[in-house]
Amino acid sequence: MLKVAYGMQEVGDLRIVTESNYTTALRQGWEAREQQVSFQDFVSGTNDWLGKASSRGDALDSVTGQQVDLHLLRRWLTDCELNHGEACNSSLYSRSNADLPLVLIDVIDNCLVSASSGAKYFALSYVWGAVDMSPTLLGNYKSRCQKNCLPQQFPNTIADAITLVRALDERYLWVDALCIVQDDPEHKERDIARMDVIYSHAFATVVALHGANADAGLPGMRPGTRSPQQVETLVIDAGSEDLDYSPDTKSAQGRGKVTLHLVATPRPLDLVLGTSCWETRGWTFQERLLSRRCLYFSDRYVYFQCGRWRDKVLSECGINSTPRSKQRANSALEASLSNPLTDLYHGGVTGLDPEQSLAKTFATYVRLVDKYTARKLSCEADIINAFMGTFAALNELFQSDILCGLPVAALDLAMLWAPARRTPRRGHTMHTQGFQNMGSGHALGQPALVPTNRNTDVLAWAPQMQTFDDRVDRRFPSWSWVGWTGPVEYRLYYGMPRHLPLPASLIEEFVIVVDGKGLQTIPGRKQQRVALTSQGCHLTSAAPKDFAADKPIASPSLPNVLQFLASTVPLSTFTVSTEQEYISTTDHIHSSSQQAVHHILDGKGKRCGLWWEQAGYLYVGRGLNAEAESKMILVGVSRHDAIWDSCGPYRAEGEIKLFDEKVYPVSGTGSGLINVIAVDLDMGHEFGERITVARIHALAWEEAGPVKRMVRLA
Ligand SMILES: [Zn+2]
Repeated sequence: MLKVAYGMQEVGDLRIVTESNYTTALRQGWEAREQQVSFQDFVSGTNDWLGKASSRGDALDSVTGQQVDLHLLRRWLTDCELNHGEACNSSLYSRSNADLPLVLIDVIDNCLVSASSGAKYFALSYVWGAVDMSPTLLGNYKSRCQKNCLPQQFPNTIADAITLVRALDERYLWVDALCIVQDDPEHKERDIARMDVIYSHAFATVVALHGANADAGLPGMRPGTRSPQQVETLVIDAGSEDLDYSPDTKSAQGRGKVTLHLVATPRPLDLVLGTSCWETRGWTFQERLLSRRCLYFSDRYVYFQCGRWRDKVLSECGINSTPRSKQRANSALEASLSNPLTDLYHGGVTGLDPEQSLAKTFATYVRLVDKYTARKLSCEADIINAFMGTFAALNELFQSDILCGLPVAALDLAMLWAPARRTPRRGHTMHTQGFQNMGSGHALGQPALVPTNRNTDVLAWAPQMQTFDDRVDRRFPSWSWVGWTGPVEYRLYYGMPRHLPLPASLIEEFVIVVDGKGLQTIPGRKQQRVALTSQGCHLTSAAPKDFAADKPIASPSLPNVLQFLASTVPLSTFTVSTEQEYISTTDHIHSSSQQAVHHILDGKGKRCGLWWEQAGYLYVGRGLNAEAESKMILVGVSRHDAIWDSCGPYRAEGEIKLFDEKVYPVSGTGSGLINVIAVDLDMGHEFGERITVARIHALAWEEAGPVKRMVRLA
C-alpha cells in the first residue's frame, strides 16, 4: 500500500490491482465477476469496463453504467442485522420503544400508507435546496394514499431512494417531504418533535451526500451517474528493489518489464463528509446521529457505517479506514464520524451518582451544541425544530425538559455558552462595511462611527463597521444560544480536568415567563440533586416566591423571559481592556478562530479575568460610550472552587492567562473562578439582554462588592 497525502492530510492509498483481487479491489469488479470477464480483458482497455475512452466514443454507457452492486449493499445490511446484535438493532432511546404512527411510502404499491414506527422502513437524509419537492399537502394526501397514485416525477434523490428500496426487495421508505403533510401544522409539529423515533427506528438511513439539492440523485443508482474509477498503468523493471512486488508472468520475464495496475482507494468517508453540503446543514445533523446504520451515497462510492463499527467504514472497495496520522488526531474532520449521542448511551450513565450522570450528559450536550450551531439553516426560525430529535434523546438522560435549547436540569451550566465569533441576534441582519464604503475622509486609523445593537452610533477606532436592523426575533431569547445566529462554544469548560466537580451554581431558583403568560419555577441545581433521583426535573407551575420583594414581571411582548436573583456588579467597576487576543480554533490549536477575548482589569489595573467579544458591543472598554456601558452589569452564575492548570483559553502562542498570578492566588484561600454573564439593561421595563460571557477571579469578584438583585433576561 502506498499512502497518498494532500498537503498534511492522508487521503487514501494506492493499491495494486492483480488477477487475484480485481473483482473486489475495483468498484465495478462485481460486474466482471458476474459476467466472468478475465483480468486481462478487464484491464487491457480492449473493452470499456473501466470506462476507458474507446473509438466508439460511448464508453460510459455502452458496456457498464458504473452502477452500484446492490448485492453488496444487501450483504452489508443483512450482516449488520443478523450479526451485530444490540448495538445495531435496538433503539437506544427508551422513549422510542413505543411504536408511533407514521406515514410511509409503500414502494411496491406506489402510494402512501398509514403505518407505525414498528414497521421495517428506510429513511432518507438529504438536502432540499431550491427544488420543486412535489410535497404531500392536505390537498393531495388522500389521493396519494390510493394504490399507484404517487406522481411520476419526484426530485432525483427521492426517485432514486424509492428505486433503491425496491431493488433491495424492501417495501417502506420515509421521506420528510412526502411523509409529513407539509401544510398541516399539526402533523408537522407532531413529526418534528419525534425525529428521534423516526430515524432511530428506521432500518437504515440512506444519506444523499452528493450535490447541494434534492435533484442531485444517488450516484450509481441510474446508469451513467458516476464517472469510471481511474486505473493507472505503470511499466517498471522486473525485480526492482524499489518495489516489493514481482509477478511471475511470461510476458514480464520475456521483456524484463512488469506492468502494474494501480487504483486509488476511496477517499475516507470523514473527508467526503467534510467537503459535502449535506454535512453543513442544520437538519441533517441529527439525522445521522439518531440513525442505526447509514448508507452514504457520495459522487464516486457508496459507504456503510453502523452502530457496531463507529470508526470502521465499509465501501464498495472494501474497508475504508480512517487515516490516523498525528496531524489529524484531533481534527474536526475525524470527529465528524463520531457520534456523541451513541457514545453516551453505550458508555452509560446508569450506576453513576446524579452529579456524575449530569456532568457526563452535559459534556455530550456541549459537544452536540458546539457542532450543531456551526451549521446552516435555510429558515432561521428552525433552530430549535431541527434539533428536537436530539433534545428528545438527551431528555432521557437529563431527566429534564429542554427550554429554548437549554436543559432545565443544568440551566446555570448551559447559560454559559460563548460566541465562537461575533454573532448577531436571531432575526437581525448584520452588515459589515469596509472603510471604502464609509465616505471620504476616513483613512485607516481615523475614528469611524460604529452603530451599536441599539441603533446609536458611537465613535470608534475600528477597521470595519457593523450595522444592525432592529428585527430581533424575540421568540428566541438572548439568554440561550438559540437567540443568536452563529456558532457557539462552551469554551469555559474546555480543558477542565474530569476529577473536578461541576462549578457550583450561584443561582437558587429561576422563574421563566413562558410566552408572556404563565410563570414557572425551575429549582437551581442544588435542590435538583434530590429531584433527579426521584422523578427528574420538570417544569412546575408553582407560584413563584416573592423573593427580595421583587416579583417576576410578565411582558406580553417579550416571551420566554428568564428571571432570577443573583449577585451582580456594574461593568464600570472593572475595565474591559482594548487589547484583544484571538483564541485558537477548537480543532487546531495553532490557528486562530474568529473569536477574540479581552482582559478584564480590576480597579488597580491588574488583570483579573477575560471577556468574550460580541458583535454590537465592540465599543465596550474603549471609553467611547460611557452612558451605554453604565447600563451593563456582570451577573455571577457559577463558581469553581479549584483553579486548574490552563483554565484560560488557548491561542496560537499558548494559553491566555485568566488573571495576574502575582496578584491573585492560584490555590488556597481566596482562590476560585466566577463564571459570569454580561447583561445590557438598556431594554427598558426592567428587562435586559445577555451580551456575552466572562470569567473573573473570585477574589476580584468579592472585592468588587457584588449586590443581589433581580435579573430579568429576554
Ligand atoms: Zn451493524
